[in-house]
Amino acid sequence: KAKETGRNALRFFDPAMQTVVLERAALEAGLRKAIEGDQLLLHYQAQVVEGGRVTGAEVLVRWQHPQRGMVPPGDFIPLAEETGLILSLGNWVLETACRQLAAWAAVPQTAHLTIAVNVSAQQFREADFVQTVLEAIERTGANPRRLKLELTESLLVDNVEDIIQKMFALKAYGVEFSLDDFGIGYSSLSYLKRLPLNQLKIDQSFVRDVLIDPNDASIAKTIVNLAQSLGLGVIAEGVETDAQRSFLADAGCHAYQGYFFCRPVTVDAFEKFAQEFDPQFTAA
Ligand code: C2E
Ligand code: MG
Ligand code: MG
Ligand code: MG
Repeated sequence: KAKETGRNALRFFDPAMQTVVLERAALEAGLRKAIEGDQLLLHYQAQVVEGGRVTGAEVLVRWQHPQRGMVPPGDFIPLAEETGLILSLGNWVLETACRQLAAWAAVPQTAHLTIAVNVSAQQFREADFVQTVLEAIERTGANPRRLKLELTESLLVDNVEDIIQKMFALKAYGVEFSLDDFGIGYSSLSYLKRLPLNQLKIDQSFVRDVLIDPNDASIAKTIVNLAQSLGLGVIAEGVETDAQRSFLADAGCHAYQGYFFCRPVTVDAFEKFAQEFDPQFTAA
């Protein structure tokens, strides 16, 4: 009997499948090393308001792979989530962002800058998530009011009471919340009034064709109106042209992020951009 199973197993052995499994294992081992070592890097993408003020940046993680070069998050965040590595990765991002906030706070001309950090649903669902964030703040000396956590609607599928409780706990320290990629998920609108959010972030898929596709234009306008009527801020991501910015401004959205202003870049390049772009960013 055992022999038979063995033979069958051999017969169904699939070399293509084995390659996938091995590659995945290698990638997982590599990612573990990247997190423990110094292969992760944060890029900063400016957030700009009407009038040219740079209010802060969103941090976007990159993996500087020794062979593959710069790996974008879309290629390893899903793996990090499947393997649980997202927890240590997320902690590293949080800690690094908080350390940067503390460094900016020490210089008058950068003291106002905020940092938005992407938080995976899995991270947020951890029992000690609030503690983890507070510890990062405390260890680094960051001002919690300058820290904004970007959540996605995927967080709102279950155990919403727990999520809300954690948000209020962090809000008590001044931490802010933005609902990322807003409009592409399937969260109930009824949650919006119960979550202590500060901002809705219009997903870039609506911004892309806002001038060409009347449906995208309607959705973008609706999100702006929704934010306004709920007393929330609103920011558009993926703004690539001045025409898109202008449409959004007419619709009532006055905060932007996108290649039109600045790509995600190193912290030094971000500071240089702010210095050149922001009329108020003058030497103190
Ligand atoms: P996201 O949070 O929605 O970030 C916006 C993405 O749009 C970024 O891609 C950014 O580089 C890109 N982008 C910005 N401006 C433009 C533009 O004008 N046009 C276009 N076409 N794209 C633009 P990126 O850096 O590849 O990140 C992809 C996603 O990976 C992020 O989407 C976020 O969900 C996730 N991610 C990034 N960093 C982290 C992190 O530290 N933790 C977690 N959990 N997720 C992260
Ligand atoms: Mg984001
Ligand atoms: Mg987004
Ligand atoms: Mg997005």
